Amino acid sequence: MAAQIIDGKQLSFAVRRQVARRVAEFGHSVRLDAVIVGEDRGADIYAHNQRKTCAAVGIEYHLHRLPTEVGYNEIADLVIGLNQDDSVTAIMVHMPLPDGIESEGIQSLIDPVKDVEGVNPANIGNIVYGRRSLVPCTALASLEMIESTGVELRGSRCVIVGASNIVGKPIAVLLMRAEATVISTNKHTQGLDEICRTADVLVSAAGVPGLITRDMVKSGAVVVDVGINRIPGPDGGNITVGDVAFDEVREVAGHLSPVPGGVGPMTVAMLLRNTCEASLG
Ligand code: NAD
Repeated sequence: MAAQIIDGKQLSFAVRRQVARRVAEFGHSVRLDAVIVGEDRGADIYAHNQRKTCAAVGIEYHLHRLPTEVGYNEIADLVIGLNQDDSVTAIMVHMPLPDGIESEGIQSLIDPVKDVEGVNPANIGNIVYGRRSLVPCTALASLEMIESTGVELRGSRCVIVGASNIVGKPIAVLLMRAEATVISTNKHTQGLDEICRTADVLVSAAGVPGLITRDMVKSGAVVVDVGINRIPGPDGGNITVGDVAFDEVREVAGHLSPVPGGVGPMTVAMLLRNTCEASLG
């Protein structure tokens, strides 16, 4: 039987409705301040969508733009200024930053209580201690999608493919907190196929199209595809795909998240939810 689709769009609508209700009930305004440095089409599109999405749930959106030529110190000054401004409760810095600017340094400057993407190392560390509010949005989105299937995480075997600081590792920690048995893998892992085949829950966040094939998936497993890859499509233009060979894995998995329409929209919903949380101080 074909896998049930974990519909990130539907799940994200439910979260957005919840956020809109909370914002309407709060006696204070909720706002998100975003920073873009330089010209990046991807970041521009993301910011444009953010503005629309925020407006739809009643969140004020303020975009701060700096030109490409600025140095680290000017970006740092802007972030520090936003940290110090009491009317600002949620901050995010769009990636990529211009060449030569150390993004981790800038992310570490964001006040942890305003860091709604959960990129400050303090917030990444917080998840080890069980604080769920300002954790990295993609990790939170992946967990919500897994939980939506009703799978019992305690005692289950979870394999995470990809171990970056902002995606793979936080997902592994969230699953450890749910008392799953978690195996973290990376590009140096030997015997990835066999390891994946043992997973009750398989999450791929490697950024490699077609990495997860049918023979790597246990029958009935929950498979969450975090990858976002642009590849040439059949009509000459580029298309977006995940890490999972969707059509063939669908035949064996129990639940499968699609790309697009999976983790992506849920990540945006988690950003809105974190923005709501941050407004409470
Ligand atoms: P990254 O490049 O920082 O890390 C990739 C990780 O995957 C590394 O740990 C690497 O060792 C591992 N890896 C690479 N090739 C592998 C292989 N063949 N086998 C096993 N492991 C392998 O990337 P990232 O920032 O963590 O992002 C990962 C993917 O998730 C990308 O496609 C990115 O676009 C996507 N992403 C999606 C969202 C979303 O909202 N859906 C958000 C962030 C990132």
